[in-house]
Amino acid sequence: MTIDIIGAGIGGLTTAIALEQKGFKIRIFEQAEKIKPVGAGIILANNAMQVFDKLGLKKILTENGNPVSAIKITNSNLEVISEINLTQFEQKYNVKNIAIHRGSLQQILFEQLKKTEVYLGHKLNKVVKNEGGHMLHFENGKKIQSTTIIGSDGLHSKVRTNLFPHQPIRFANQLCWRGIANHNLPTELKNELNEAWGKNERFGFVQIAENKVYWYALKTYKNAQHKQKINEIEKSFANVNSTINNLITATPKEQINLAEISDFKPTKNWYQENVCLIGDAAHAATPNMGQGACQAIEDAYILSECLGKHKTNEAFETFRNLRLKKAHSVVKTSWTLGKVAHLSNPVLVALRNQMLRMTPKSISTKQSQQLFQLAQV
Ligand SMILES: Cc1cc2nc3c(=O)[nH]c(=O)nc-3n(C[C@H](O)[C@H](O)[C@H](O)COP(=O)(O)OP(=O)(O)OC[C@H]3O[C@@H](n4cnc5c(N)ncnc54)[C@H](O)[C@@H]3O)c2cc1C
Repeated sequence: MTIDIIGAGIGGLTTAIALEQKGFKIRIFEQAEKIKPVGAGIILANNAMQVFDKLGLKKILTENGNPVSAIKITNSNLEVISEINLTQFEQKYNVKNIAIHRGSLQQILFEQLKKTEVYLGHKLNKVVKNEGGHMLHFENGKKIQSTTIIGSDGLHSKVRTNLFPHQPIRFANQLCWRGIANHNLPTELKNELNEAWGKNERFGFVQIAENKVYWYALKTYKNAQHKQKINEIEKSFANVNSTINNLITATPKEQINLAEISDFKPTKNWYQENVCLIGDAAHAATPNMGQGACQAIEDAYILSECLGKHKTNEAFETFRNLRLKKAHSVVKTSWTLGKVAHLSNPVLVALRNQMLRMTPKSISTKQSQQLFQLAQV
């Protein structure tokens, strides 16, 4: 059986690797002419690293990234108000959370593909049902017959909009700047992610390699007129804290990336006959838990296990049933977290920070445990 994967993002590439390892014949269609990474980092949380361990990629990813053993929420002066220590999960699952350049991650994943046929410059336009399955129509004029399709074509998925057209995108009214500073953090910050919460804004940073610190900054905007531009990031965070300011100034401006934060409401519509959605195409989440790509990676592994054990349609149903609860919980929690993190009323900000300080560690440990535990197929 040939499986056609639409989209060579983190989810699509990981799915291709997992299915190739099981002996499936794979074709992957990507709209971009080249695999072009966003100039940003990413944290591969413990759950994603467990998957990469199973796929034989733990060593190469660990060597190319930087381990993160704590996640800290701070106020805008970088004074800690809440902390999650990850060492117990490192010991339990024998993997660490790894912060890595997105470019390195995509390159490593791409290089694992040995037999998969990769078609770049193939932007899917529509999927039309026919007797043999579906006809894939591409913008370059090509038409390709397919029996089995995995839609890993992201938030604006053409596979999803063809199959389940009524799934409006939900905007969070937040802008996110991302960059990589040529900088080394002091030793005590090297193995942790710090995220500073202010009023209507956040700034996170983490070392991803020698002399490379990945940072992201989010700000609320009220309406389209209030949206800021790429070069306004420096002004926005100039007076917040010198560490933050140093990171922004140590970043080549032309490499700063600006994105609007959005998702769509959780839906059970992940598959139909011989077509299945994964990753952002099925359950895009706002990035507030840093779990979007990790959930796509979990999907890739669970779906490949299901396809290895069941007939196609049964595999898609089993996959959806195994993954739905956690993926939806990430979408919902991320959305709420984004609202709480961007409170504007100073009284509510103080109250929020006090509550965070008082939250028992056992609660965040339990939440992390639920997040890191993979489903059993
Ligand atoms: C600001 C920000 C920060 C984030 N930080 C993190 C983090 O730290 N950790 C984390 O786990 N997640 C993070 N995420 C989320 C993460 O980036 C996504 O969840 C993840 O990339 C989803 O992977 P995917 O493969 O499903 O989709 P995508 O990465 O969107 O890949 C989709 C692929 O499909 C291709 N494609 C799209 N349409 C077509 C078409 N019509 N035809 C052919 N190809 C097509 C695209 O070119 C792309 O290559 C962040 C997201 C944002 C916006």
